[in-house]
Amino acid sequence: AEALLRQAHKMEAIGQLTGGLAHDFNNLLTGIIGGLAMLKLRLEQGRMEQLDRYLTVVQEAASRAAALTHRLLAFSRRQPLDPVATRPNELILGMRELLRRTIGPQISLQEKLAASLWPILCDPNQLENALLNLCINARDAMPEGGDLTIETANVRFNTQTLGDRAIAPGDYVLIAVADTGIGMSPEVVARAFDPFFTTKPMGQGTGLGLSMIYGFAKQSGGLAEIHSQPGIGTTVRLYLPRFLGEIRAQPATDAELPPQPM
Ligand code: ADP
Repeated sequence: AEALLRQAHKMEAIGQLTGGLAHDFNNLLTGIIGGLAMLKLRLEQGRMEQLDRYLTVVQEAASRAAALTHRLLAFSRRQPLDPVATRPNELILGMRELLRRTIGPQISLQEKLAASLWPILCDPNQLENALLNLCINARDAMPEGGDLTIETANVRFNTQTLGDRAIAPGDYVLIAVADTGIGMSPEVVARAFDPFFTTKPMGQGTGLGLSMIYGFAKQSGGLAEIHSQPGIGTTVRLYLPRFLGEIRAQPATDAELPPQPM
């Protein structure tokens, strides 16, 4: 839970960072454009003294701008996946307190968790990050409060497609996060998975949450999709592939062993 809280704070920090970076980047571009205009003017006038100085200024501003975009790209780079057999219901229940604290008291959290849910094969840390991000988005969409529902279900796809996206036929676990918030227009839905797409004020949104969630679902062999209606709410559905192997019992640690007779 502590690691996840740190993650939530990190996402907020990234929001401030990207807002700040965009601002710095613009300042550097202004310097580069101004410097180039000066150079052009001097060349046209045949005044060759100090050309070197202007060139150096432009060069330095351009290198600093490149360093800024590298920092941004480092954030968007995917963490490597470490897929293991995971029980989604248990993972969700384990996050309950963190999610409650994140969404605040004016939003009620409902769980509709399927009995006999299949285990899935995925990186549990990334699934936790995905759920936390979806709940933060839901919270932001319900400033006046509302309902946030997390639902799980076993689903079997016989077809090759889900909506307009390709998916391999087979068994999946559906994890859906639904809110009763402001919803999205079709234009926003169409771009919501794009990296850096955000409608939030500068410094608050990174536009990375949903793109990372989409990447995580795809890399796990599943899919993510959005259903949303303005004024009604949003549902984000993750389909993650069923784990078909055997789940080995965790070896008991000393703390879990019954006390030994003295
Ligand atoms: P961010 O939250 O930083 O903006 P995301 O990639 O998570 O980045 O979301 C992109 C955009 O999709 C948001 O700016 C918002 O416009 C829209 N969005 C995401 N989730 C929701 C939601 N639950 N309700 C309404 N709009 C949403």
